[in-house]
Amino acid sequence: MWGRFLWWVNYYGTLHRVPVIGVEPAFTTQNCSRRGQRVKKSLSMRTHLCPGCGLLLDRDHNAALNILHKALQGTVGQTGTDEGVSSNASGQPAATRRRSAAPRKQAG
Ligand SMILES: [Zn+2]
Repeated sequence: MWGRFLWWVNYYGTLHRVPVIGVEPAFTTQNCSRRGQRVKKSLSMRTHLCPGCGLLLDRDHNAALNILHKALQGTVGQTGTDEGVSSNASGQPAATRRRSAAPRKQAG
């Protein structure tokens, strides 16, 4: 099922020219998306409140920012849209997407 999901993510990424990038999912929920401080939380804790910098976000919002940062770190200068989503040590690849620049107007 996961493989099929990734297939569709890649399919629509290519179709709409949106890069699909696999990232290592470890600690994307635990780390503070502002400065990286580890903030342990159980599954039932739905908010991220960082004791270091005071950042308060929904748990998933914080995780999404961490995933985005990881994806951007790993792809400096990369512009293709058809890279495969790589799996990682845990065998559970995470995917995120990055909006490409505004669509170019066609000449004419
Ligand atoms: Zn913080």
